[in-house]
Amino acid sequence: MQKHQTIMKPTSAKDDPNLSDYQNTRESFDWSDVEKELDWLPNGGLNLAYEAIDRHVAKGNGEKLAMIWEGKNGEKETYSYDQMRIETNKFANSLLNLGVKKGERVFTFMERIPEIYFAVFGTLKMGGVIGPLFSAFGPDPVKDRLENSGASVLVTQPELLKKIESIFPSLPNLKHIIVVNKNGRSSEPVPPNNLDYYKLMSDASEEFGPIATTRDDYSIMHYTSGTTGKPKGAVHRHNAVIQHYLTGKWCLDLHENDIYWCTADPGWVTGTSYGMSAPWTNGVTQVIYEGGFNARKWYQILQDYKVSVWYTAPTAIRMLMKSGKELPQSFDLSNLRFSASVGEPLNPEAVEWGVDAIGMPFHDNWWQTETGAIMIANYASAEIKPGSMGKPLPGIFPGIIDAEGNEKSDGEEGNLAVKTPWPSMFQDYWEQRERYDSRFVAGWYLTGDEAYRDSDGYYWFIGRSDDVINTAGHLVGPFEVESALIEHPAVAEAGVIGKPDPIAMEVVKAFVSLKEGYEPSTELQRELMGFARQKLAAAVAPREIEIIDSLPKTRSGKIMRRLLKARELGLPEGDTSTLEED
Ligand code: AMP
Repeated sequence: MQKHQTIMKPTSAKDDPNLSDYQNTRESFDWSDVEKELDWLPNGGLNLAYEAIDRHVAKGNGEKLAMIWEGKNGEKETYSYDQMRIETNKFANSLLNLGVKKGERVFTFMERIPEIYFAVFGTLKMGGVIGPLFSAFGPDPVKDRLENSGASVLVTQPELLKKIESIFPSLPNLKHIIVVNKNGRSSEPVPPNNLDYYKLMSDASEEFGPIATTRDDYSIMHYTSGTTGKPKGAVHRHNAVIQHYLTGKWCLDLHENDIYWCTADPGWVTGTSYGMSAPWTNGVTQVIYEGGFNARKWYQILQDYKVSVWYTAPTAIRMLMKSGKELPQSFDLSNLRFSASVGEPLNPEAVEWGVDAIGMPFHDNWWQTETGAIMIANYASAEIKPGSMGKPLPGIFPGIIDAEGNEKSDGEEGNLAVKTPWPSMFQDYWEQRERYDSRFVAGWYLTGDEAYRDSDGYYWFIGRSDDVINTAGHLVGPFEVESALIEHPAVAEAGVIGKPDPIAMEVVKAFVSLKEGYEPSTELQRELMGFARQKLAAAVAPREIEIIDSLPKTRSGKIMRRLLKARELGLPEGDTSTLEED
C-alpha cells in the first residue's frame, strides 16, 4: 500500500559522510564504533551524567554554555558545562549525605527549572535510579508511581507538594522529601519534616567521585500506560546513552555549534532522552523554556535564542498551523536549519506546512518509552516522504510481523516489531516481569503499534493495536482513567475511549453508568469532569463524559471499549458475539 507519493529532497547535506549513503551505512554499521566516540570511565564503566556533562569539561570545554533557561515568570539563567558539573556533583553528594545508596529510586515531581536537571544528573552520578514525573499530574498518578517504584526520595516544589499532600501516609518507603523553592516563588517556609534543597546543596561538596556505574546499571525509569492495569515503570540502563548520542547526531543532526530546543517535558521520555541526554552528550547548547505552549512566544524563543535545531510534537505543530503561517514570518528564524517531530502521527500537511511557514519541513521520527531512543526517522540527508515515520536507524532492525512472529512483505499491514536487543532497549517493567516478558515473541519486541513498510523501506504508522489512547502525544491507559472515575460515589461503571480530534489526534472520552439513587444531569457531568481532573491531570482526564444507562460488557464482565468507540464513531459494531445480554 502506498499512501502518499510526494517525495521531498534532502533538506541539508549532512556533513557526516556515513549517513548520506544510507544503505552502505546500514550494512557496515557496528555499535562498537559508536562506543568508541564516548568516554568510558577509567574502570571501564559507563555513566550517562559523565557522558553528558563531565567529559566536556575534561576535554577543556567547561566554559561552554550547556543551558540557557527562561522561566515562566521571565527569569533568565545560564549554566556552563562546568557549572552543571558542580551542581550535579553537589546533588550527588547531597544524596550520599542523606544515606541514599546506589540503586535506590529518586523521583522528581518538578516543573522545568534548572534544578530538575541537577537532580536528574546528580542522581545518575551516584548510581541512583531517577524517575521524573510530569508536574501536571494530580495525586493519584504520583502515588501509583511512587508506590510501585518504592522510591526513597522525592524532589519537588512547594506548590506541587501541596497538590499531593494526601498521598504521603501510604508511602512507607519514601524517606526524604526535598523541596526546591525556586527563586523564592513560594512565600511559605519548607515544611519542618521536609528538606530544603538549597540548604542541602550548600552543605555538599563540589567534588564527586569516583563514579561507579557500569553500562548495565539501571539509570532512568518512566511510567507508560497499557490497556489494562496500572502504568508500568519501563526501566533503562546507562548503556542507553550510546543510542541517545548517536541519534542526537544522526536523527537530529546535532553539531557542536548548534543551539537546540526540545519542547518536551522531562516527565515524559522525550524530555529526558532528547531534553537532556542526546543534546548534552553531543556537547551543544540547549534552550529550556519553562512555560507552556503559546504560538507567539514559541517563535520568539526560536528567534531570540537563535535556535538552530528544534524538536517538537505534532499537536504543537497543528496548533502553530492554526495560528497561521503569517505569524512566523514576522520573526527572524534564519538560524533554524533542522526541525523534527515525534510522539504521534505527523500528517503530511504539517510536514509541508513547515516548508511554507518556517522554511523547512518537519522531520518525523518514531520511538517509544520502551525503545528509549529514536528507532525510525526521516534524516536530514535523506528524502522525506511526508506522512511516513522514515527509515530505521542503522543498527536497528524493525519488521512487520504477524501474531506468530513471521515477517510480512512490503506493503502488508501488521504489528510493528523490533529485533532484540538494541543499546537503549528497556530492561524491565519495574516489578512486573510477566508484563515485560509478554512484549517479546520469537526474538522480536512487540511495540503495540500497527504499521507497514513500503518498497523503499519507509515505515508508515497505522494505529495502536490496543486500546491505549494517544492524546497530544501522551499515552493514556483507559484503565487508569476508569479507576479514577469509579472512585466517585455516583459512578457505577466507567469505560474510556480515544475520540478522534483534529488537533490532539485523540481526546479522552468517558462513558459512565450511575449507581442507584443518582440521576444524570449536566451538574453531575461537570462534577465528574472536575473530579477526574483533580485526581489525574488535565492532560489525562476526560475531555468529555457521557452518562449512559449501562456499559456494553462481555459475558465475562469486561467492558467492551471497542464497541463504545464504534458506537461513538457510528462505525459497524463488528463481532459482538461475546456481548453480555441485557
Ligand atoms: P510513548 O511511549 O509515550 O513515547 O509513546 C509511544 C507511542 O506514541 C508509539 O508507540 C506510537 O503509538 C506513538 N508514536 C510515537 N511517535 C510516533 C510517530 N512518529 N508516528 C506515529 N505514532 C507515533
